[in-house]
Amino acid sequence: MIVVLKSDVKKEDIISLHELIKSHGLSTKDMDGEGKSVVGVIGDRTKLDPRVVEAHHAVEKIIFVQEPFKLASKNFNHIDTVVDVSGVKVGRGHLALIAGPCSIESLDQMREIALSTKASGANMLRGGAFKPRSSPYSFQGLGVNGLDILAKAGQDAGLPIVTELMASEFLPEFIEKVDLIQIGARNMQNYELLKKIGKTNKPILLKRGLSATYEEWLMSAEYILSGGNQNVILCERGIRTFETYTRNTLDIQAIPVIKKLSHLPIIIDPSHAGGQWWMVDTMAKASLAAGADGIMVEVHQDPENAWSDGPQCLRLDRFRSLSNDLKLLNTALNPDVAARV
Ligand code: PEP
Ligand code: MN
Repeated sequence: MIVVLKSDVKKEDIISLHELIKSHGLSTKDMDGEGKSVVGVIGDRTKLDPRVVEAHHAVEKIIFVQEPFKLASKNFNHIDTVVDVSGVKVGRGHLALIAGPCSIESLDQMREIALSTKASGANMLRGGAFKPRSSPYSFQGLGVNGLDILAKAGQDAGLPIVTELMASEFLPEFIEKVDLIQIGARNMQNYELLKKIGKTNKPILLKRGLSATYEEWLMSAEYILSGGNQNVILCERGIRTFETYTRNTLDIQAIPVIKKLSHLPIIIDPSHAGGQWWMVDTMAKASLAAGADGIMVEVHQDPENAWSDGPQCLRLDRFRSLSNDLKLLNTALNPDVAARV
């Protein structure tokens, strides 16, 4: 952090500023420029709220030289993280191919999707048991029963399972049954929930909030990492823009930006981004080409009769064709992936 001083500042004011900063366990360094003096602040930034410094009468403004997210930052870890989800690696060229319906409807439904997507190359099974619906009158999910169905279908197909946790009261159940705990867009800033999952060692899929900035998203990841849980995968799922033709707008720029700022893997959810099945294939391929570490797509055997998000679900045959293409693309992009840890 660099503190820019007011031009008419007195010597005693500078001394009092130094004392204030040092009283928080940080050290200072004076740098006098032409017409402007600045004070460099060195040490652990978390020890001092920048607003305290900003309020000092000698201070004109503060310039940050380091990101506020420390553990999620690329500066903290130059080597990209690989997250292991019950034996499935994600990151550094290891591709997550997560498929499954929006909502868990029945064991037959889940088993058919699990076996088919696994045969097509999926390496994880998704399905919502607790659904964050915009209307309280819409189907809210099968709850704990849905969780058991998902776990059974995953077991039968040999696929780790991914599902959304909305309330911490169900955390023990999720820890026991779920391989990758999803935190949905609407809960990205539920800091109490983030603190709780940060104290577990379960892999977490952290979706980007509907209108969250990269910094806000990475600060949410920081909540989980600072609790001790290093197993975080980020998921871009489309953001709110002025466009209404599509459900959301897939922010493909998030991939290079996150790769620059952070060591955490990032996957893409093209289903909730576009909201329409015919865009999924193109957006999934574009995401991989842009450097994503995988995709999560909604797949259903009968999209027209799906209990939620049918219009954005791929049919089983369409998922097979997409999965084949993505594998070819990934081999071309990461030919040596098998040798990577
Ligand atoms: C989902 O993946 O089921 C979901 C509800 O996604 P999001 O939180 O991104 O809306
Ligand atoms: Mn959905």
